[in-house]
Amino acid sequence: IEKMQKGFNSRMRSEAKRLKTFVAYNTFSSWTPQEMAEAGFYFTGTKSGIQCFCCSLILFGTSLQSPPMEHHKKFHPDCEFLLGKDTGNIAKYDIRVQNPEHTLRRDNKARYQEEKARLESFKNWPFYAQGTSPRELSAAGFVFTGKCDTVQCFSCGGCLGNWEDDDDPWKEHAKWFPKCEFLQSKKSLEEITQYIQSYEGFDNSNTDSSNIKSFKYWRPSSPVGAAALVKAGLFYTGKSDIVQCFSCRGYLHEWQEGDDPLEEHSLPMCLILTKKDESFFHSIALTAPFPSIQNSPNLQVFHLKCNSFLDFESLVTALASRKKLEEIKFSGQFFEANPFVILLPNFISLKILNLGLQYNPDKETAEKFAYALGSLNNLEELILPIGDGIHQMAKLIVQQCQHLQCLQVLQFFQTLDDGSVVEIAKVAINRGFQKLKHLNFSLNHKITEEGYRNFFQTLDNLPNLQELTVSRHFKECIKVQATTVKSLSQRVLRLPSLMKLNMLSWLLDAEDITLLTATIKKHPQSKHFTLSWKWILPFSPIIQEPIS
Ligand SMILES: [Zn+2]
Ligand SMILES: [Zn+2]
Ligand SMILES: [Zn+2]
Repeated sequence: IEKMQKGFNSRMRSEAKRLKTFVAYNTFSSWTPQEMAEAGFYFTGTKSGIQCFCCSLILFGTSLQSPPMEHHKKFHPDCEFLLGKDTGNIAKYDIRVQNPEHTLRRDNKARYQEEKARLESFKNWPFYAQGTSPRELSAAGFVFTGKCDTVQCFSCGGCLGNWEDDDDPWKEHAKWFPKCEFLQSKKSLEEITQYIQSYEGFDNSNTDSSNIKSFKYWRPSSPVGAAALVKAGLFYTGKSDIVQCFSCRGYLHEWQEGDDPLEEHSLPMCLILTKKDESFFHSIALTAPFPSIQNSPNLQVFHLKCNSFLDFESLVTALASRKKLEEIKFSGQFFEANPFVILLPNFISLKILNLGLQYNPDKETAEKFAYALGSLNNLEELILPIGDGIHQMAKLIVQQCQHLQCLQVLQFFQTLDDGSVVEIAKVAINRGFQKLKHLNFSLNHKITEEGYRNFFQTLDNLPNLQELTVSRHFKECIKVQATTVKSLSQRVLRLPSLMKLNMLSWLLDAEDITLLTATIKKHPQSKHFTLSWKWILPFSPIIQEPIS
């Protein structure tokens, strides 16, 4: 007999519902709501905490760069949802009507005419579907098939599944099988019509009410109305006429007379929309690649989040001809390192390159990538991809960044080791990185204590550095010796602009804290200085025991 699991949240079984919780999610995160919802997570409403509906694992999305599904697997490999067991997950495009496995046999039909017999069939009704009561289901003519949460009407034979809490079985019966004799014998035509009319359909994107609120200050004189923008899944950012999609995080602005938000939005490719919209997107992506890019000579910002097939090479070729392009962000599973690297030197105006979720496994490509980077003279923000190729070429990449005199933000995730991290400090000594404000190498678990110590001891000559992040994952805590903390605190004093030092998962003892606190007091930015080293959990996580 299946039991209700501890921490299981049956209300969040539906991916579409989980996705909606992210409407209120404003935290900077490299993860998109779609990825998180698909990996079983919903937004808890507190800080950037997201939680699995099944195993109740809580993650903080802010500084983690590999996909949420990977983190989920790493921390709770035996989450039953991940293992593909029947946990009642309702995927985004799952529908209510199920194909009957068997046609009803005549003797069964006779047997289940009795409501009591139908109710008895629900003995093993799954724990996750308890929000829909067997009593109501059997009263509405349904018999439990024993498979997932699929029920079948004894009279018309129609099968329904994917029940969510508070669903009304009669309403579903009427909506999907209005001709059923049993239904018509129990409900009047009027009632049936009413059931059908009150049905909202399976539109997944009705996050509308919060979207509408965001448009309170949208200029009425704007050539595109708020209603059309809301319908395309967009939020008003409150600035100028810039709107944003909560799913793909893409921005759209400079609206003109006759613009169709749905079209503009689904061309820079977001799949939050309904099934119908998705096929619309596919047909455009496949037949007429990237007309919006070709028609925009002044394109400055290009963010693409996409998990389906697309002709990446044509996309990059189209982008490479946009000489004013200043910003590129790719996320999703469409990226191919090779064509991108070959065309990269063409992006002469590029200021922001964010490849934080992309994967470059190949050493040769990573080498080409390093040299191409060295030619992007205007680059201000660089978020490097992950993968073994980048790891092997990290030193060369750092050396090439020495040429980037405008660089203000540099992020490496997972790819640095003791040799390449110290290279960053060496480049700084050689007068590279003079404008660098943010240096982030979180989650570089290959760096040993000795590596950090060498880095701190070498680090110097970064007059503009405001934020340094050396955080690790909470499962990869590091306990360091007093000498390492001492080198760190000495270096902190040589970084005059430093205001933020993030070192989550460093296990500091009272002595270390005393030393760092004293150092910060002496620092020119002491009034504004913040040091983060402890994970602060805004709520207590439910640690799940393995189910025996
Ligand atoms: Zn889970
Ligand atoms: Zn029926
Ligand atoms: Zn979008």
